Amino acid sequence: MKNKVKFLFKSIFLFLLATTLPRFADAQESTIKILPQPGYYNMQIGDLPLVVLSDGTNPLAFDKLLLNAQPGELKSLFEQNFLSTSVEGSDNAYLIRTDGKLVLIDAGSGDLLGPTFGQLTKSIINAGFKPEQIDAVLITHLHPDHVGGLMRNGQMVFPNATVYIAKAESDFWLSEENLKNAPVGSKPFFEYAQNSALPYLKAGKVKTFNSGDKLFSGITALGSAGHTAGHTSYIIESNGQKLVILGDLIHAAAAQFTDPGIAIAFDSDPNAAIKTRRRVFDDAVKGKYLVAGSHLSFPGVGHIRANGKGYLWVPANYSTIVSK
Ligand SMILES: [Zn+2]
Repeated sequence: MKNKVKFLFKSIFLFLLATTLPRFADAQESTIKILPQPGYYNMQIGDLPLVVLSDGTNPLAFDKLLLNAQPGELKSLFEQNFLSTSVEGSDNAYLIRTDGKLVLIDAGSGDLLGPTFGQLTKSIINAGFKPEQIDAVLITHLHPDHVGGLMRNGQMVFPNATVYIAKAESDFWLSEENLKNAPVGSKPFFEYAQNSALPYLKAGKVKTFNSGDKLFSGITALGSAGHTAGHTSYIIESNGQKLVILGDLIHAAAAQFTDPGIAIAFDSDPNAAIKTRRRVFDDAVKGKYLVAGSHLSFPGVGHIRANGKGYLWVPANYSTIVSK
């Protein structure tokens, strides 16, 4: 626990260094160069309509964040992908209609991580839905870029939704004792998690679950701990088609597919995160089903192939455009 908390402190420092500083430095330039995107992407998994939603993007300085790389490896991997090591990172969420219910997976950053994130509500509305229509929010993990958007000014952003959190994740982040024992520098991560969940907890609208639980028709929880204590991926299955929503099993596509032994400073337990990544990716290679990553370039849906000691990312081709 002590080590975990120490690690968190380092993570927060690196997170602020890597996200906040470049954002302000680049803000003027990027608003001129980059035009806004619509922020939603329609798909279908079997009989289930699914919309990938964007919470926005934010620059990430991967040269400061990634761990275990050999000297020169990162520069070379990013160059092969025509990128510098500072990448505009996506934050994706998902909306699925099943059994007449609207189920959101992850809630974006809300007001917690600056103005280029926090776009999820806008994306939901642009996709033709309203936050009050959402019946359930399933959380991959309680980091601020996944739960900050649950709450605004102390109020529920999704007033008619029940929030589902893995028991191991809830036990770690929502514990008063863990918050109390955390060093000053790591308290904000616990506070973000607890404040985001608070209005739902007060209303008795938080449910916990375990890996393997079937939460809705076609949606099953898949425990994938490592990035956090109770990190959860979700299996979406319908009519012979399958998509696994990975959550944060990967952050830097350009580096971590080729070298899955590279971890990120946000991982609570980098070794466990690496093992879990390999386990889930190996199954996706074998099963040839679709996967989706929270921080893969929006919409971040595709297949994984084996490639030497690592993997190859093959983005899906869902290019049908229907004009209104
Ligand atoms: Zn994340």
